[in-house]
Amino acid sequence: MGNKLPALTRDELIRRLMDAGVAPTAQRIAVAQYVMCEGDHPTAEEVANAVRTRLPMISRATIYNTLGRLVEVGLLREVRVPHDESLHYDGNLDPHHHLIDKGSGEIVDLDFNEVQIANLDLLRERYRFDKLVVTIEGTIPHA
Ligand SMILES: [Zn+2]
Repeated sequence: MGNKLPALTRDELIRRLMDAGVAPTAQRIAVAQYVMCEGDHPTAEEVANAVRTRLPMISRATIYNTLGRLVEVGLLREVRVPHDESLHYDGNLDPHHHLIDKGSGEIVDLDFNEVQIANLDLLRERYRFDKLVVTIEGTIPHA
């Protein structure tokens, strides 16, 4: 599991949805619980597969709409990965970087301070940053 996600109770999850202005329907709760607490940078397809084990009747449109809404209100982030057309969803809202395993595509969160960028101030003089995420492609050693 490469994602550092908060362990939220169902009530805490519902509270977060409500605070963000998202009405907590059973379907939205199921999607939010998976992506915000359990999933590991899943794609929409992976979210659909996981949520359907609990709510078999949930439609693809509901899942996609809910993911879009959770991103819109800032409870989720979209992650784009090199050489992968699918959008991934990230429930870790702390600033962090990613390491992507070349073989499996697994994405591991790296703490923001684990990656040092020497010339950040120089770069900021030349460019305006909206978001700072370093993506490292490599190999995750599995024992
Ligand atoms: Zn992440």
